[in-house]
Amino acid sequence: MKKNVAVIGAGMGGLTAALRLRRQGFRVQVLEARAEAGGLASGNVYEGFSFDAGPYILLDRPGLEWAFRSVGLELGEHIELRAIDHVYGVDAPGRPTVNIYSNDAKTAAEMEREWPGSEELYLRFVRQTGAIEASLRPLLYGSAPGPMSLLGGGRWRHARFLLRSLGSVLRASRLPQPVVDGLSIWTHVAGQRPEEAPSPLAFVPALVHSVGCFYPKDGIRALPAVLAEAAAGAGVEFRYGTKAKRIVADGGRVKAVESTEGESFPVDAVVSDCGIATYLELLDQKEGVSRKRCEKLLLQSPGVCAYLVVKGKMEPPYLRFLLPGGEERTRLFIRPGVVNPEEKNGEWYPARLLGPMDHAKAQRMGPRGQADYLEKLLEERWWQEGISDYRVLGRRTPANWASEYSLARDSMNPVMTAKFMREGRLAHRSPDLRGLYLAGSATHPGQWVSFCAISGVLAADCVRKDFA
Ligand SMILES: Cc1cc2nc3c(=O)[nH]c(=O)nc-3n(C[C@H](O)[C@H](O)[C@H](O)COP(=O)(O)OP(=O)(O)OC[C@H]3O[C@@H](n4cnc5c(N)ncnc54)[C@H](O)[C@@H]3O)c2cc1C
Repeated sequence: MKKNVAVIGAGMGGLTAALRLRRQGFRVQVLEARAEAGGLASGNVYEGFSFDAGPYILLDRPGLEWAFRSVGLELGEHIELRAIDHVYGVDAPGRPTVNIYSNDAKTAAEMEREWPGSEELYLRFVRQTGAIEASLRPLLYGSAPGPMSLLGGGRWRHARFLLRSLGSVLRASRLPQPVVDGLSIWTHVAGQRPEEAPSPLAFVPALVHSVGCFYPKDGIRALPAVLAEAAAGAGVEFRYGTKAKRIVADGGRVKAVESTEGESFPVDAVVSDCGIATYLELLDQKEGVSRKRCEKLLLQSPGVCAYLVVKGKMEPPYLRFLLPGGEERTRLFIRPGVVNPEEKNGEWYPARLLGPMDHAKAQRMGPRGQADYLEKLLEERWWQEGISDYRVLGRRTPANWASEYSLARDSMNPVMTAKFMREGRLAHRSPDLRGLYLAGSATHPGQWVSFCAISGVLAADCVRKDFA
């Protein structure tokens, strides 16, 4: 008899899990609280302009291709990916801009002009981290890789690297501090200090230069849209506007999912794409091991975001970061028009201003303080250079994200600290309850859309193994 699986949440992880399970013959129902699929990777429309809600760049094309192939889709057949040449620039007061291009030689040559001696150091850093990334990549495609998985392919040689922090890896590169700050920008956007971040974040420059960075012609939002369409076509049943309230268990095994509307869905298995909310809100297990663990994890805030339309020339870089220094967090200005000029409407281009926030601080500030912070960022002059006019069409604070995307504790996921990576992220197969599986950003050592898509495939494979 066909087994019934409920997937809670149609984010990137929930969608790949649902499609993979359906292709393997399971009866799959997706319960999604919102009116559409995609979660944080979905889109918004304001006054006829389309925006990505959260993500703005694809840094791991191979991972996304792997996940798409695992659910029977060729990424390139469904999504037109545009390569970004001048990927980002990082400004900081009193320092030259650090520019990162897809071309390593161009990036290094520009560094050399500002900081003599850095060209060779940079190219060596990229070569070394690229080799480690290539060797460790197979681990990305396995559920819960433990120390034993380091034994194959000479990977044990990188055990020491994995025990280090991003800060320590970057220090050892001997690159000048502005370059180090520019390379660690992906940890700044996660609201994290390089000393707490895991060493694999040092792979990003190598990925930028070897694989490239991409933005889909129809925005990141096109990715979940393709997955949801394929899943529906394959026979996955989507229940939009259906919020799960409780996972019902009996005798240590999952039995049903209850919705906030009082409906009950009997199931053989549940794949939850709700991260820590699975243990903190959906499961009645005050003493559960995973619940206690989730209580202690450092959390990541989605930060503040303004959805804008701007007038002016769309000149590279695609992403402009500002590192103001001191206690101030980085800010990011995103202009999709640099990569996709056709997103223009009349003289107006869509753009976004993002302000990553420390989770604990955002909680202390509360909704009013968060909104004031966004207004402060909007008043800053740096992002308005080259822009003759702008209008703010939408605003989001951590409190708004949480209510619109059902984020537990106003957090998009646990921060991937070096410690969390070493101890292991939340398991795809729940250690607390039989028949419960997790997909999504809390289960993978990175929070990119590609990783979330991979996580859904891995969670689905755990279900299949257990029901084979
Ligand atoms: C501002 C921002 C910028 C980002 N930038 C990038 C980037 O540039 N590149 C990149 O790769 N990634 C980026 N990310 C990260 C990426 O968007 C996320 O990690 C990823 O989309 C999360 O996918 P997920 O599968 O974990 O689930 P989510 O997207 O969190 O989806 C979970 C889904 O579950 C639903 N749900 C929750 N609770 C319930 C319930 N009880 N019942 C039913 N449904 C429920 C929600 O409505 C949601 O649809 C960014 C994120 C943010 C917020």
